[in-house]
Amino acid sequence: MRVLLLYPRFPQSFWSFEKTLALLDRKAMLPPLGLVTVAAILPQEWEFKLVDRNVGEVTDADWDWAELVILSAMIVQKDDLLEQIQLAKDKGKQVAVGGPYATALPHEVAAADYLILDEGEITLPLFVDAIARGERSGVFRSNGERPDVTTTPVPRFDLLEFDAYAEMSVQFSRGCPFQCEFCDIIVLYGRKPRTKAPEQLLKELDYLYELGWRRSIFMVDDNFIGNKRNVKLFLKELKPWMVGHHYPFSFATEASVDLAQDQELLDEMVQCNFGAVFLGIETPDEASLTLTQKHQNTRDSLSDAVNTITRSGLRVMAGFIIGFDGEKTGAGERIVRFVEQTSIPTALFSMLQALPDTALWHRLEKEGRLRSKSANINQTTLMNFVPTRPLEEIAQEYVNAFSDLYDPAKFLDRTYRHFRILGEATYPNKGKRAKKPINWVTIRALLTICWRQGMVRKTRWQFWRNLWNMQRHNPGGVGSYLGVCAQIEHFADYRQIVKREIETQVTAFLATEIGVNAEVQDKQKAKVAV
Ligand code: SF4
Repeated sequence: MRVLLLYPRFPQSFWSFEKTLALLDRKAMLPPLGLVTVAAILPQEWEFKLVDRNVGEVTDADWDWAELVILSAMIVQKDDLLEQIQLAKDKGKQVAVGGPYATALPHEVAAADYLILDEGEITLPLFVDAIARGERSGVFRSNGERPDVTTTPVPRFDLLEFDAYAEMSVQFSRGCPFQCEFCDIIVLYGRKPRTKAPEQLLKELDYLYELGWRRSIFMVDDNFIGNKRNVKLFLKELKPWMVGHHYPFSFATEASVDLAQDQELLDEMVQCNFGAVFLGIETPDEASLTLTQKHQNTRDSLSDAVNTITRSGLRVMAGFIIGFDGEKTGAGERIVRFVEQTSIPTALFSMLQALPDTALWHRLEKEGRLRSKSANINQTTLMNFVPTRPLEEIAQEYVNAFSDLYDPAKFLDRTYRHFRILGEATYPNKGKRAKKPINWVTIRALLTICWRQGMVRKTRWQFWRNLWNMQRHNPGGVGSYLGVCAQIEHFADYRQIVKREIETQVTAFLATEIGVNAEVQDKQKAKVAV
């Protein structure tokens, strides 16, 4: 069987970083880990070709070669996914679809022949059996059963074009023990974190090392520390591996804020060359956190947690959301104040969305407040439900706050303050982090950043002053510092896109509301007249 693995295109988003990637001659941030895992689970006598549409196009030769097309996508990729399914069908191909979007909203991908839903370790073998029986269509579900990920094979990293990606991805665990009301992870993967065995993940790292990867790796777990005991066992084995291989990689991941309460875990992560962590902070408003059942964020001071993690040597990125029920006016400003106080450079900021099948979705459906039976997760879409305060007020706060967060001078200042704190962290392997090779592309990127931020923009004095101070106080961090400064090349444009898209949708929303109200009034008048 000749299988074309097809990864749909992402729209421009917070994480798309087109301009920053262009500086480094990369085409996408992360590779499609799901599809290379699918390739490893399917029969190895089958032939595979992978086309990531964020990196390149499917050629006529690829279409001609393929007997079966398998696609996987997240909700944010749905437009391109639907187009590619149609295209493959028009070319007479058998099409199979899986991944989080298809699992959450299978009726939206019904044009595909096979729906391989839930987790592939269980449903891919069912699909292979159906193919062997000559079945031309089918829906494969795990019916609540969750696979033991210790049996997941090493992903087929050899199918990836390494030079195209800024970072590599691997996965240690699935699932999260918490129960945030808006979260779809616990719906997709459950609340009992399942982890791979330490030697299993080391095998994946061995393979990446053997294939020549020597840069950053993102652990794509939604909560890397969901099972702290197993994470510590893994880090214990990762440490000598990293020493033995001379720290060939640096790592980043996502974790819950209770990471700050475990200094031993923080130290172990830093010693294994973890350099950054993404935290789901969501909001500094305690009432909203309680309402959304994010109780783990209410136990200790959130700003103390961020400071503890940064002082331990991990750069903090964090997610924030506006639009919770009962939220008081000024939530946007409170988020900006928090981000400034804690000097978090990269703050992902979104309006709350109800994702299919989440507890939030079901509550809003019961209350008759869902505005759409679909969902989209990005920074340029209005909320898909009726909030408890006026939508236009939330949208205005959101646009203002987003714009404020990514004002170039404020962003550069936060980044500088953050890296000064990072510079004060002490740990045994400090200075041994994976050094990025200095090549022509890196030099050109540095010169471009210095030109744009140090000459062209109004931030020029700030840029040179901060760089000078960084060189004096945290010379080992200058490379990463400039890497984060480069993100403003993306955010400075993106904040304008967010403003334009949200304001257009608010205008359309208000026009519809006025139309609906006028219609209701006309009907009432007509009733009175009768
Ligand atoms: S901590 Fe993160 S992954 Fe876990 S339930 Fe909450 S939002 Fe989901």
